[in-house]
Amino acid sequence: MTGSEIRARFLEYFRRRGHTVVRSSPLVPAQDPTLLFTNAGMVQFKSAFLGEERREYVRAASAQKCVRAGGKHNDLENVGRTARHHTFFEMLGNFSFGDYFKEDAIRFCWELLTKEFGLPKDRLKATVFTDDDDAFALWKQIAGLSDDRILRLGEKDNFWAMGDTGPCGPCSEVHFHQGDHLPCAEEKAGRVCLGPACECDRWLEIWNLVFMQFNRDASGRMTPLPKPSIDTGMGLERIAAVLQGKMSDYDTDLFAPLIARVSTLAGKTYRAREEDDVSMQVIADHARAATFLITDGVTPSNEWRGYVLRRIMRRAMRHGRMLGLEAPFLWDVTGSVVAVMGDAYPEIREAHPRVVETVRQEEERFAETLDLGMAKIREYVDAHRGDAQRVVDGRFLFTLYDTHGFPSDLAQEVLQDAGFTVTPETQQTFDAEMEAQRERARAGASFGAGEPGDPTVAIYQQLGSQLAKPQFLGYASLAAPARVLALVADGQRRREARQGETVEIILDRTPAYAESGGQQGDTGLMVGREGQGTIQDTYYRGGQLIVHRVAVTQGHLREGEEVAVSVESHRRQGLRQHHTGTHLLHAALRRVLGTHVAQAGSLVAPDHLRFDFSHGASVKDGEVEAVESLVNEQVQANIVVSPAEMDLKEALKSGAMALFGEKYGDRVRVIRIGDFSTELCGGTHLDATGQIGLFKVTDEGAVASGVRRIEAVTGEHALAHVGREEAALRESAGLLKIPPLELPRRLAALLEDQKRLEKQLAQLETKLARGQAQDLVAAAREVAGVPVLAARLDGLDPDGLRSVMDTLRDRLPSGVIVLGSAVDGKVSLVAAVSKDLMKRFPAGRLVQEVAKMVGGGGGGRPDLAQAGGKDASKLDEALATVAAWVERMAQG
Ligand SMILES: [Zn+2]
Ligand SMILES: [Zn+2]
Repeated sequence: MTGSEIRARFLEYFRRRGHTVVRSSPLVPAQDPTLLFTNAGMVQFKSAFLGEERREYVRAASAQKCVRAGGKHNDLENVGRTARHHTFFEMLGNFSFGDYFKEDAIRFCWELLTKEFGLPKDRLKATVFTDDDDAFALWKQIAGLSDDRILRLGEKDNFWAMGDTGPCGPCSEVHFHQGDHLPCAEEKAGRVCLGPACECDRWLEIWNLVFMQFNRDASGRMTPLPKPSIDTGMGLERIAAVLQGKMSDYDTDLFAPLIARVSTLAGKTYRAREEDDVSMQVIADHARAATFLITDGVTPSNEWRGYVLRRIMRRAMRHGRMLGLEAPFLWDVTGSVVAVMGDAYPEIREAHPRVVETVRQEEERFAETLDLGMAKIREYVDAHRGDAQRVVDGRFLFTLYDTHGFPSDLAQEVLQDAGFTVTPETQQTFDAEMEAQRERARAGASFGAGEPGDPTVAIYQQLGSQLAKPQFLGYASLAAPARVLALVADGQRRREARQGETVEIILDRTPAYAESGGQQGDTGLMVGREGQGTIQDTYYRGGQLIVHRVAVTQGHLREGEEVAVSVESHRRQGLRQHHTGTHLLHAALRRVLGTHVAQAGSLVAPDHLRFDFSHGASVKDGEVEAVESLVNEQVQANIVVSPAEMDLKEALKSGAMALFGEKYGDRVRVIRIGDFSTELCGGTHLDATGQIGLFKVTDEGAVASGVRRIEAVTGEHALAHVGREEAALRESAGLLKIPPLELPRRLAALLEDQKRLEKQLAQLETKLARGQAQDLVAAAREVAGVPVLAARLDGLDPDGLRSVMDTLRDRLPSGVIVLGSAVDGKVSLVAAVSKDLMKRFPAGRLVQEVAKMVGGGGGGRPDLAQAGGKDASKLDEALATVAAWVERMAQG
């Protein structure tokens, strides 16, 4: 049975049993910004399990794409070295939201495994949680398993919890017997193999059933859930290996074509040499992860998700080198990923050109880094060849990273392969160097636009190290008392500032928001004991100092004094409206255009917003409308905007924090707008979406390749925008004396009329010109015995000219005629020569000669030819040459 068949039969089995088959959610979780990647089937159903959301179904099944990278359960370094660790994998699962419980879950599981998939019963065992007598009895009754084939295991193996509080409950697993001939560490140590509870390969866990039965509160007490639920998970790669009789996931048809491709590119045989196998497996696994992550909108970078992707790709590239692949190759392997999985996940086929481009670029960039870094590592290895204890120095890793951008984890791996040890001290030294580097960066880099040597920069450098980060009060209040800590003007610290001066003022606390995250800084008022000033802007300097630019309007403001600070509330309200509007827009874009949409830039001003986002195609009119109305639906639903402070370390599972660095700080602020939007954000927001009033898109366009921009307005500015459009509409309708709603129909009719009238006019002009033909004929001159006529008939198009020409040819049976006209600066020419003369005076050559003078060209038959030109100012001169031309031709 192929991997694709297993996936299809799993879903079909549950569909027939009343389950709604739900598409895999994207790898970047839409509803949970603290989760690195979607890592289980239940992620997209979390709010349904928590009872926060009602769905149209109570039973669901899915094949979910998952990524696990980093963390103690899936160390990236293990991937490729074992038969079962993966960064990307698929999780098959069935779910019940307060519908069926243990009995059906166990029945479905057993029936699917033994009947549909045909696994022999005597190679299966079940495990249950120690106290779960229900599950024990059900396995006996439904599966007919004897007591010795049902193991009771403790909390570590068989109890599941969503978090410290919330839904939790016992689990039950099914294990498959791979054979007792396989090695077991317990047995080697003189003990007995523990069967399904053992770490060895003899028994393989294939399916985990979670019985969500209790709710745990903060005190740790568990109360039964009124409607218990089911969440199950079975790794597709693993069940495929079992059903295809393979001992390694990499030998299944899900991986084999990828490994074959790598093997071809590298010119190496698979299963010939262990180190090569590891490298091929690493590349196969990582090509899948890269393809799916890039498809779902992750791009390689030095931050968070982007960093994980970069790390995965770079590890694959390094293993490519170990196979002797010098040129970019990973992009090529993504083609095999699409070939194997494009039918089940059409999005990877659609995104493939983007995937190829992204991977190739990263490969080219990394090649340079790698060459340099590997040379440095070789030097280091040589220099320490004679050392008694070969321990990696953290400072060396830091230098590699800092000066050459060579990833420390990669360096560690290379050095370990070369026989070095990495100790906790290595990591500590590296971390300490990184911290010192960050300090230097904080002190130096982020002082605004100041030139090096600018005294203001030096002042803020000093202040930054002396002063604590000012407290921001502006989420809750718009006015507060505060103390003036420092005044800076003209590159100097000041004791005070007087009326007429503009200074930068730092306070110990402030309700004013400093420009960041795209949101503009606040303005307001600062009132002291003996003077006051207006706050013109608020921004960061020296890293985390909030600076108010104040124009002193009365008396003076002094260092050390207490001041009353207030924020201009109307402007702030505009900023809040546009910031919350930005979050709604972002979420709506992802829903309408797809989850590849990622923010590329954002401006939140009091009177408008601008949002740049990644999107490969142009945005159609209907899509803009759909986005706008989706946002306005959320506005009308008046959803509460709930900000929450969270501990990222806890929220991010295990190792993700280390990748995250300290960039966002340990505490993060999360803005949640119902189930519609969740973002990490430090900005100021509305209390509920209804306060936006109205959301209108004013402009949409491209800013760079693959990046689009939307400009929009909210609240009074949206109303004003609509008002202006309405006024223009009313004015137009007033001119036509019709109701505004009839405008489109009437305008269409008017345009139709205009076209018709223009045509009529042209016909009339032609008629008129033909009427003048008699006069024209009279104007013909004899040149070398040939009647020659050259005339200008402005306003006629080529059709009109030809029509007049027909009339003239009737009236002048023998002769040479050239007609010209100018319309909107463009010249048309027609030349005709009677049959008796056309050999001597070919019309085609004549018209070419004339057209040359008006900057154009043309041609035709000897009796009739036409041409065009661009320079109407030369038309008279050009027509005047006709006689001379005839003269010249006549003389031969
Ligand atoms: Zn064992
Ligand atoms: Zn925001």
